[in-house]
Amino acid sequence: MNNENEKPNTYMCSVLCYNRVENMCRGGGVMLRIKKTQLKSVKRATMFVDTYFVSKFGFSPYRGCQHGCAYCDGRAERYYVEGIFDEDIEVRLNAAEILDTTLVKSREFGIVGIGSGVSDAYQPIEGKHKIMPGVIDVLIKHRAPAYVMTKSALALRDLDKWKELNQVAGVTLFVSLTMLNNALGRLFEPGASLPTKRLEMIQKFKEAGISVVVLAMPFMPKITDGLDQVDTLF
Ligand code: SF4
Repeated sequence: MNNENEKPNTYMCSVLCYNRVENMCRGGGVMLRIKKTQLKSVKRATMFVDTYFVSKFGFSPYRGCQHGCAYCDGRAERYYVEGIFDEDIEVRLNAAEILDTTLVKSREFGIVGIGSGVSDAYQPIEGKHKIMPGVIDVLIKHRAPAYVMTKSALALRDLDKWKELNQVAGVTLFVSLTMLNNALGRLFEPGASLPTKRLEMIQKFKEAGISVVVLAMPFMPKITDGLDQVDTLF
């Protein structure tokens, strides 16, 4: 158990217990170590609305991130991630159930933010564990508006559910995209979807009537901050 709840402005995603560790090969000979854990809350530690993303609740189904972006501040600072940032992945198996319990008990309504600085809700392991469809079902049940932050086109798998939630409560997709060059993307964001795949995802979410915000940061000096590159992006 760590002491992350003592720190302000962090996610109150305290882990009750580690119940299992599983090894999984992710290709290229790299072995992932998967820890299956249980959340006990999805409320933000501050109890106030997040002024940046305007959310009242916040959580991620995972901690640690297979995307392994070279510039990730979470990767550099670690923020309570144990082990190797992109190889030791914590899977919060009960995320949907805890979200349901929290929304049932909550007297205040608010936007639910899904994602964090140390994980991506649609990183490749989500393809196996499929936690997000259950999370969206809970949001639909409570008619709770939500946003999700991702660098993965895997979010398209759940587009029909996101559309349904958007119709009853509202959804915003936040996509991190700072370059359109796939070769650079593969180099600096090795586990994430290629930039062009993210563009396709943005297009499909917009066609579905869902609001999309592009998080165009960070730009890497001399690598992705050329005027022509930024112009192309915008
Ligand atoms: S997707 Fe986000 S959390 Fe994951 S490694 Fe990249 S910057 Fe970090």
